[in-house]
Amino acid sequence: MSEPSIFTRILDGEIPSEIVAETDRLFAIRDIAPQAPVHLLVIPKTQDYRDVSELATGDPALLAEMVGLAQRLAVEHATGDYRLIFNTGAGAGQTVFHVHAHVLCGDLDEASLRA
Ligand code: 5GP
Repeated sequence: MSEPSIFTRILDGEIPSEIVAETDRLFAIRDIAPQAPVHLLVIPKTQDYRDVSELATGDPALLAEMVGLAQRLAVEHATGDYRLIFNTGAGAGQTVFHVHAHVLCGDLDEASLRA
């Protein structure tokens, strides 16, 4: 059993963060270092998948649920348009190896996410 990720610790209430949405298998929080006017993270409750490639292979339905929740949050928090980013691998800027989607909304001209 691996150490709990920072997102698992948030889900368990060990690290404070407002959960802005929750489903049976997902939750969403605001990124602590927002890179856009609206910057949310959609995260599976399980930390079984390190990145989007593992998730796509292991549970594609859960990946589809993530896209659905991202869409819902973009409607609730902005105009409904959004950019969905999965940093995959340290070289691409991934720092938390518990798969998560960045949902960016608003004026995205300057939004980069280190990419
Ligand atoms: P990655 O770099 O792995 O694609 O994304 C991890 C994201 O998690 C970063 O954008 C970072 O700002 C965010 N993050 C890291 N620690 C925390 C935290 O304790 N609370 C919240 N809300 N976000 C965090």
